[in-house]
Amino acid sequence: MADKYTALATRVIHSGQGDHPHGSPYTPVYNTTTFRFANTAALEAVVEGRAQGNLYTRYGTNPTLQALEHTLADLEQAEAALAFTAGMAAISATLLTHGRAGIVCVGDLYGGTMEFLSHQCAALGIPVTWLLAGEQEQLPALLSQRPGQLVLLETPANPTLEILDIQVVAQQAHQHQALLLVDNTFASPVNQQPLTLGADLVVHSATKYLGGHSDLTAGAVMGSAALLKPLWSWRKNLGQTLAPETAALLSRSLRTLVVRVREHNRNAQQVAEVMAAHPRVKRVYYPGLADFPGHALAARQMRGFGGMLTLELAASRAETSAVADQLKLILLAPSLGGVESLATQPCTTSHHSLSPEERARRGISDSMLRLSVGLEDPADLIADIQQALAAVLADQ
Ligand SMILES: *Cc1c(COP(=O)(O)O)cnc(C)c1O
Repeated sequence: MADKYTALATRVIHSGQGDHPHGSPYTPVYNTTTFRFANTAALEAVVEGRAQGNLYTRYGTNPTLQALEHTLADLEQAEAALAFTAGMAAISATLLTHGRAGIVCVGDLYGGTMEFLSHQCAALGIPVTWLLAGEQEQLPALLSQRPGQLVLLETPANPTLEILDIQVVAQQAHQHQALLLVDNTFASPVNQQPLTLGADLVVHSATKYLGGHSDLTAGAVMGSAALLKPLWSWRKNLGQTLAPETAALLSRSLRTLVVRVREHNRNAQQVAEVMAAHPRVKRVYYPGLADFPGHALAARQMRGFGGMLTLELAASRAETSAVADQLKLILLAPSLGGVESLATQPCTTSHHSLSPEERARRGISDSMLRLSVGLEDPADLIADIQQALAAVLADQ
């Protein structure tokens, strides 16, 4: 039976696939750095852009890479996509290409992105402004001070799962000749397509849900051909093009993306509902819970609520660490989006570099435990969390 995901399910399997040698249903791995030509005139025609052709893999002209980029563009309903060696490669190249007039960040961002903005962008003299999600009303004034800036946001954000209204921010940005860039890693394109809500560019850490098996590092940017054209030059000359072998592995992962994310959504919802009723859990941050502050907005702009959730325990920082240490099935590791469930205590990992005051200002408490809910039986995951809570907090 057709459901809200099925059109995408068909596209991720068949997109970008044409006729291949020997009847292969998928683009083979062209593990080559270069491509030969019949004569100098043919080579020169490709170099000068008068003829289409594969030339050199770092440029991105490699069929394995192009098949992947076709699917990546399709996933976000974009005109074009570029694949990168890592999520941070995609983000840094996008900020360097389109953020040089200034970058305005709204809400919480990935730790690596914050570090790049604070250190590398600052070193290059790129003005960076930070707004909390609750300070969004200041955005129009900030954008009007300096036209042509880049607005950057993540929704759901890490680790509070706070939801921002992409449509509203896109309108505010466009009123001031600014572009909106959304890091869509947490939601995945199965659950949310920011370009259809007015964003101009989308970035992904493909290391997470797109790869989905914790076995590859990659990144992607999706948007219009016009916005991606200058980005292509930065990628080429910074040497950030994804290797064909990894591109083929990522293409394989994308064929099961819809099935995986649908199951991540189901499992996370179950874990969230059971944990919300646990006496040692003060609060569950998950957009799929009816009493979550961003629930109504998430239900409007997302197709599913995702596999990420955060538990705030009725416990001290040390006790929360002890609970994390007691988990047996759920692995203690700083990533997300894989088939195996992972846990982290944000104050010890992703938000370790922030001062306690800054964490408090951002609503990130020391007793938070962030979970990337995997594809195990949710009953086993719930039992694992329950035994860890009981081992540390039972007799209080
Ligand atoms: C992991 C992550 C990144 C960085 O991706 P890498 O592939 O590790 O470079 C960027 N944004 C978000 C939201 C992430 O979770």
